[in-house]
Amino acid sequence: MVTPDLRRAVPRTDALLADPRLAEAAQRLGAPVVKRVVREAQQRCRDGELAPHEVAEAAVAALPAASTSLHRVVNATGVVVHTNLGRAPLSPAAREALDVAAGTVDVELDLVTGRRGRRGAAALQALLDQVPEAQDALVVNNNAAALLLTALALAPGREILVSRGELVEIGDGFRIPALIEASGARLREVGTTNRTHLHDFADAVTERTAFVLKVHPSNFLVTGFTAAPSIAELATLGLPVVADIGSGLLAPHPRLPDEPDARTALREGADLVTASGDKLLGGPQAGLLLGTGELVQRLRRHPSARAFRVDKLTLAALEATLRGPQTPVAAALAADAADLRARAEDLAARIRADSRTPSDALLSVVACRSAVGGGGAPGVEFDSAGLALPEAAAALLRQPGPRLVPGSESPLVPVLGRVESGRTVLDVRTVTREDEAAFVATVAWALRELAR
Ligand SMILES: *Cc1c(COP(=O)(O)O)cnc(C)c1O
Repeated sequence: MVTPDLRRAVPRTDALLADPRLAEAAQRLGAPVVKRVVREAQQRCRDGELAPHEVAEAAVAALPAASTSLHRVVNATGVVVHTNLGRAPLSPAAREALDVAAGTVDVELDLVTGRRGRRGAAALQALLDQVPEAQDALVVNNNAAALLLTALALAPGREILVSRGELVEIGDGFRIPALIEASGARLREVGTTNRTHLHDFADAVTERTAFVLKVHPSNFLVTGFTAAPSIAELATLGLPVVADIGSGLLAPHPRLPDEPDARTALREGADLVTASGDKLLGGPQAGLLLGTGELVQRLRRHPSARAFRVDKLTLAALEATLRGPQTPVAAALAADAADLRARAEDLAARIRADSRTPSDALLSVVACRSAVGGGGAPGVEFDSAGLALPEAAAALLRQPGPRLVPGSESPLVPVLGRVESGRTVLDVRTVTREDEAAFVATVAWALRELAR
């Protein structure tokens, strides 16, 4: 029951909006966002949940941290490239580049001559410096766009040969065969699911064949009685060979021996390589095209190329990823189990100190296994270390209550782990250095909640 007295006591909107903290938030986040949290706090007062003098404080506490409804989260799943968590987290260098590019920048201007400059030249050069086997490069919106542009530019009204073992569904219901055929080109499937031979391709070549496509099965394994011609063999057919390597490794990775890379594919005879920027390369969403000068030029000149063009933010982040220090993805792949164990022990000690509760029964350091994820290297797992908590911790960690715990420096951030064998495991391999403070604060908060 709301008494008339209480209704009168609810602080007025204009008085609340004059609170310096809410006024500052209106500048930063926009007035509608602040008005909404004020209205909600007033309603809680009317409902008797808050005393009138608590309304301003509650509105401040309910302010979102940023004007995007995306939430920063900590990836403790142990899946290095996690599609649901935005694939690759960017390096500090790439984030800084994004900040620069967010304003007005010389993306198509030569500051020395004052004339128009070539868009994205620095990012393309960074790519070519790392892949000297490529004569030219082009960057588009994602790998799907790279494939579609390739089909549009190189195979209009013609045929593309592909092995039946490589008709891949990428995820979310999208299939490479359907994507390619959306260009109007015809996909001609050869061989069988498990075995395709060079002669299957050779038998299918006609004057209508535009190119041969080799797609890396990046999210599944075909094992047992299998065969597929190599790029080097396909190159003997006398047709252009386009290799979709998927993950975006530019050079061989010592820990991922079966994952294809751009340099090797080109050296073996691929004329064009397509890949994603935000998988194992560890950069922004992008589609990389690397290959012969002639083919890349045909793609660049195709009218649809403009529709696949990347923005200045992508160019900036990609260049910084390529030129900058080790990416978080590379660091996660490189970490060895003994170092991860030491890091898990260190994080556990910090969490115990921070939680200020007897938490030994609730928190332990355990061995676990990490995966590369949707980004590539299907079936590959690494020994890792993590923190084990009760199963009930998973939901708390996903939605930590207050944004800022009194007395704690770090805001609480949703921490995503995995539930296995009745406990929540937080794999430290995928927790970046930048995430550590928020990770410690949030897990400590969850332990306090569980101990109550
Ligand atoms: C991931 C993937 C794609 C799709 O790449 P996007 O950058 O997500 O468009 C295409 N082909 C292969 C082999 C892949 O692994």
